[in-house]
Amino acid sequence: MRKTPLESWIRDKIACNAGELLTRDRIEAYQLEKLRETVAYARRMSPFYRASLAGVDGRKLEDFRTFSEVPFTTSDDIRSDGLKMLCTSQDEIERVVTLQTSGTTGESKRLFFTAEDLELTVDFFRHGMATMVEPGATVIIFLPGERPDSVGDLLSRGLVRLGVKPVVRGPVRDLAAERAEILRHASPCLVGIPTQILALARGDAGKTIPSGWVKSVLLSTDYVPAAIEQELVRLWGCRVFTHYGMTETGLGGGVECEACDGYHLREADLYTEIIDPETGRPLPDGTPGEVVFTTLTRQGMPLLRYRTGDLARILPTPCLCGTVLKRLGRVQGRIAATLPLQQGFTIGMAALDEALFPIAGVLNFSAEVSENDGQDQLHICLQVCDGEEERVARMIVATLFQNEALAPLFQQKVLTVGSVTFNREGWSSNGTVKRQIRDSRFK
Ligand SMILES: [Zn+2]
Repeated sequence: MRKTPLESWIRDKIACNAGELLTRDRIEAYQLEKLRETVAYARRMSPFYRASLAGVDGRKLEDFRTFSEVPFTTSDDIRSDGLKMLCTSQDEIERVVTLQTSGTTGESKRLFFTAEDLELTVDFFRHGMATMVEPGATVIIFLPGERPDSVGDLLSRGLVRLGVKPVVRGPVRDLAAERAEILRHASPCLVGIPTQILALARGDAGKTIPSGWVKSVLLSTDYVPAAIEQELVRLWGCRVFTHYGMTETGLGGGVECEACDGYHLREADLYTEIIDPETGRPLPDGTPGEVVFTTLTRQGMPLLRYRTGDLARILPTPCLCGTVLKRLGRVQGRIAATLPLQQGFTIGMAALDEALFPIAGVLNFSAEVSENDGQDQLHICLQVCDGEEERVARMIVATLFQNEALAPLFQQKVLTVGSVTFNREGWSSNGTVKRQIRDSRFK
């Protein structure tokens, strides 16, 4: 098994001496130095951080414990004070990414990147993709790529440097057209949004792509249902890798190596912590909590201790690939995507994903919890393969009642199944809107 190519990349970025091995001590000394620089830079250049870091002396950040006293930054801060978080003039901003949020306020989040910030991402893509493609290969990108500096464009530029041919198609809309495109290229690698790649592979029409044709798939989003990964391996016989990232991490965040067991992170550009979402205290490796990261090299809009809302843990054992880089375990869902129910129970989108995606014919679904006479009801709306509505409808209730994680909710009568409906058109997504259960109670 090859070691993750991110290790030698990070080693060079940290500027180890020739022949010097990368060690955890070396990475941590570098990260601490960069954290001090980032705190000083943000406080000097941005009105937002000048206020929020008023009590923090960057030079006195002796260790990671002292750093854990630095205040968090949140999505709401970006929404309300985004411009004040800028550390450069607006002229130096090369790309602004506007994220529509599913929150009730409807206000969007804007993130600002300089050309240097984007270059770091292109470089990450170039090295991260070396795990799954060789020079001369073709990568079909089903991510937004029309605009210069969009995620598809940055990935494309990284691949060209690797000697790989990128074909940018954008998010999947026309399944037949995209299946034909896949068949035009021998043993391609595909990059896309999990539900959209699943839709290309499932159903009778999906069989137009024979098993073995697609060599590898990279599923890119914050949270990848294991059920989708397993189904792609079963249908296509391909290797499936996953990428963890969001606009805030600079689009790229971390990617799996050949061991396919956790994300190796951009440790030269990001410092990652796992915290207790209730108390805000840092948690030791191995304990699940909220993912928090600090940018170490971002110029336009650095983010200090940014709360992602994602639940995961740092895997406590070394990776089989033999790297010294840490691994972030599979994201187990989002805090905001977990709805409280009666008697202390909760329900999250991740549990529904793992229960419903294994049902043959299911391509995508949305979920909603409403209230009827004091009783919480779950409604599911599905996109399925042609002609599969009746069969899938019959299976949904049985599956929910038998699922290990969900069955107790129905047995304890904290939840009942409301409607099961179908959406023939499906849902279009550019991958930035996170899948979550709609909560229409208490209105
Ligand atoms: Zn590894």
